[in-house]
Amino acid sequence: MDLDGKLHNSYTALPEAFYTKMEPNPVSEPKMVKWNEKLAAHLGIQQEGVLDTLAGSTFPQGASPIAQAYAGHQFGNFTMLGDGRAILLGEWQNQSGEKVDIQLKGAGRTPYSRGGDGRAALGPMLREYVISEAMHGLGIPTTRSLAVVATGEPIYRETELPGAVLTRIAASHIRVGTFEYARRFCSELELKALADYSIKRHYPEIADQPDTYVQFFQAVVERQAALLAKWVSVGFIHGVMNTDNMTISGETIDYGPCAFLDRYEPMTVYSSIDVQGRYAYANQPPIAAWNLARFAEAVLPLFDEVPEKAVKKAEDILREFPRLYRKSWLDIMYRKIGIVNVRDGDEALVEDLLEWMEQAEVDYTNTFRALTTGDTASMEQAEGFRSWKERWEDRMASEGIKAAHEMMRSFNPNVIPRNHLVEEALEAAGNGDYTLFNRLCEIVSDPYGDTSIDPKYTEDPPEPEEPFQTFCGT
Ligand code: AMP
Ligand code: MG
Ligand code: MG
Repeated sequence: MDLDGKLHNSYTALPEAFYTKMEPNPVSEPKMVKWNEKLAAHLGIQQEGVLDTLAGSTFPQGASPIAQAYAGHQFGNFTMLGDGRAILLGEWQNQSGEKVDIQLKGAGRTPYSRGGDGRAALGPMLREYVISEAMHGLGIPTTRSLAVVATGEPIYRETELPGAVLTRIAASHIRVGTFEYARRFCSELELKALADYSIKRHYPEIADQPDTYVQFFQAVVERQAALLAKWVSVGFIHGVMNTDNMTISGETIDYGPCAFLDRYEPMTVYSSIDVQGRYAYANQPPIAAWNLARFAEAVLPLFDEVPEKAVKKAEDILREFPRLYRKSWLDIMYRKIGIVNVRDGDEALVEDLLEWMEQAEVDYTNTFRALTTGDTASMEQAEGFRSWKERWEDRMASEGIKAAHEMMRSFNPNVIPRNHLVEEALEAAGNGDYTLFNRLCEIVSDPYGDTSIDPKYTEDPPEPEEPFQTFCGT
């Protein structure tokens, strides 16, 4: 089989406190229900013969599978966590030298499972598949999904559900929470080993620089600021931005109660458990900064022997987060309205549009799409929009309208994985019909491409009877 003898596990060279060696747990009747042809080709992995491995029933020759240890702040509270239902099979290198983790999510109990069964339900794994692939299509750094295997075994939540294993591909699975774990439960030497490993893997260019660990922190802060700007620019709500769900690589990870905004309402919360709205759409950048402060606390001992100096170094960098974020976000927002050569007044043009959108309760994605295609007829009735559009058109005249519209096409998606479309596709898949799910995956993977797709995928969503809610990935 393809993976035999080809998986490495550099993570096991870290001190043993960071992982537990263990095999995934076999399942009775594995069935491949979704295979990512394009990602497989990119990785150079063939589907033939991988089923039992991706179900967790066997593991590749020479592999050294592990469950990773980590901690984290969940809704603000520190907790010991770890891979409670995931097994890292190992690291795979593709033809062009790119190295990725291959992880099985839903592969059974581990020493970090606490009260959980270590398993995952089919619906949430398909949901992670489609949304992570959509994020990738949107050009947002993210873990990806190679396959979903139905286990043939029921799992028990509020009701009986079919079980599944998702094969997750990631630059790595090192989290802010991994560092919090190291700081709280390991020695400084072990913390340093984790930092050195992370630098070598994700930031090799700073390995030999002076003040390496401060630079490492700075680099993670920069990547997260850029990531958050991308999320916000497409209306993505992660839903559970606990520190264990924030990567050191800068990839989006852990698609549980996430969802995309329909109507533009900055305080939107979809997650049923987020009763305080801690992880509301517009709260995400400040929450990222909060998480990065927890990261700073964890790596602080590596910054300077003098605690006050270490704190000062961390604070100087953290203070820059809002500015870094805002700059990245504005850079994208300007392009969404066709501006390249930024001038005074452009920031207000962005802000005023958003203000109008909020007040007019219009769809986020489709407003930008309408500006892109020029089909704004339905918005023209609104006085607020007409006066904004006049200003914008004046501004466009100096940018060159044709070039501006072309650029807008690559910044404003035609499609996002709309909540009602995802739900509809998952329901059909749950009944054994994958037609809608496969079609949705195909369409959302190419959000800037073909504009002449079935209008079903692009029109404004129906007004929901009850507010849409998401649930933590069961
Ligand atoms: P999450 O909210 O998805 O970030 O998960 C938080 C923690 O709960 C992680 O340590 C997971 O491994 C663990 N976890 C989630 N679901 C299960 C489960 N069914 N069995 C065991 N552990 C779980
Ligand atoms: Mg998680
Ligand atoms: Mg999760």
